[in-house]
Amino acid sequence: MRRDRWAESAWLSALVISIVLRVVLDRAGYDYLVTVAPYMLVSFATPFVILAGTLRHRPPHRAGWFLMVAAQLFYAAADTLTVLDDWLSGEFLEPTPADLLYFAYYLLIASAVLLFIRRRSPGWDMPSMIDALIVAVSAGLITWVFVLQPLTSNSELPLPAKLTQSAYPVLDLMLLILAVRLAIGTGTRGSVLYLLLGSLVLMLAVDTCYLVQNIVDGGGVSETYLDAVWMASLGLLGSAALHPGVRQFDRRSGTALPDASPARLGILAVAVLMAPGVQVAVWLLGWPLNIPLISGSCAVMFLLVMARMAGLVGAQRRAAITDSLTGLRTRRFFAEALGGECRRAARTGHPVGLLVIDVDHFKRINDGYGHPAGDQVLREVARRLTAASRAGGVVARYGGEEFVVLAPHTGTDELLTLAERFRTEVAGLPVDIGGDLLSVTVSVGAAAAVQPDEEALLRAADEALYAAKAAGRNRSVLADAPVPATRA
Ligand code: GH3
Ligand code: MG
Ligand code: MG
Repeated sequence: MRRDRWAESAWLSALVISIVLRVVLDRAGYDYLVTVAPYMLVSFATPFVILAGTLRHRPPHRAGWFLMVAAQLFYAAADTLTVLDDWLSGEFLEPTPADLLYFAYYLLIASAVLLFIRRRSPGWDMPSMIDALIVAVSAGLITWVFVLQPLTSNSELPLPAKLTQSAYPVLDLMLLILAVRLAIGTGTRGSVLYLLLGSLVLMLAVDTCYLVQNIVDGGGVSETYLDAVWMASLGLLGSAALHPGVRQFDRRSGTALPDASPARLGILAVAVLMAPGVQVAVWLLGWPLNIPLISGSCAVMFLLVMARMAGLVGAQRRAAITDSLTGLRTRRFFAEALGGECRRAARTGHPVGLLVIDVDHFKRINDGYGHPAGDQVLREVARRLTAASRAGGVVARYGGEEFVVLAPHTGTDELLTLAERFRTEVAGLPVDIGGDLLSVTVSVGAAAAVQPDEEALLRAADEALYAAKAAGRNRSVLADAPVPATRA
């Protein structure tokens, strides 16, 4: 394993040496082209390092990584033009060719991240999408108030320059949203994800520093240190591609969504509080307050949080009424449905039918083939019961290996036919448990009545089930004693 990692170690060592050289050469007062050489070396090496990692580890889906290679080629070309521009001190008109190449880089890297997100998260993953939107609104507001507004109100700049300079924070914002979505969405966790996110976070942070510094006083922090952080960001990106984990990186993970983990709620809390926070900051700075902007952001944020709450409540409700093993309705849902149906029947006078279904000799399956095989049989029985059910009926797992079926508007004459349909659906074909074919049968107790009392109906069906078991199993028995009517 260790032997496998030489490429990563070599890349990291080269990176650290380059960063140190970048700083030392600058301090020593060398010529601009010499001091910037280590940076350019890393910038040009990055696409080839990503390509090498991709070809070496051969991840199952390579498109995302190839997009990254293309993005970094554009990035290196743009860096070259920028350095040339700085060296010649030529006042290129914005957008310069370097700007156009950087824009292409943004689009390519965003496509790569988007591709990773789509591969890692099945479906749309609405909760993560809403969370990313909440963070986006918050970051967008800050970007607008502290970066774009000062930039656009700077009357000295010609319009194309304003537009060009405004494009960077907007593109950074787009990348931030994608990074957040990548971080909180599903998919395998591990070094590659963290290296990639680290790279994006470093780049966004240093881009922001660069932007703010350009706006505030036109160059305060030495470019050397900004370059050092950009190099570190490129280094992490290269390390991500060299890591053997890229083979699993875009694999979908089957684990349930960490929908409302403390870390996620913390991030959301900070994001939501940002809107009032920005307003206070603007007020403290003595800047003019933009009431429509802040109120609008707050309103959007509230609505997104409401949507998120509705999603969580819905998920809780679904979990409460869905049996986790079989996917059928739970006993609790069934009790509510039976109560509601009996009350409706008391008003309208229609009959209500009920089946109690128990797997025959289920203990033998558990004892003979193990508990997991027993679970598999339960899932298959549930699937067959669902297949045999009618529209409007409720099929639920009552507990253990016992199921119930509520059949509204079903009197005694029809109920036995219905019970037989469920019984034969289960007994019809043997169940395959990993190679072994098992013959599985059920016994069914049935009871129906006009305007029934729900407890009496359940008891009658249960007694019929006992009778079916006593008569030899794999049969349906209809309760013969009349079920008492509800006490209206
Ligand atoms: P009978 O024909 O009389 O119904 O015989 P039986 O063996 O099915 O008897 P009983 O109903 O008493 O057995 C129920 C068994 O179901 C006992 C319990 O270990 C098993 N069981 C209950 N819940 C589960 C479950 O979720 N998974 C598995 N694998 N077994 C379960
Ligand atoms: Mg049983
Ligand atoms: Mg039982």
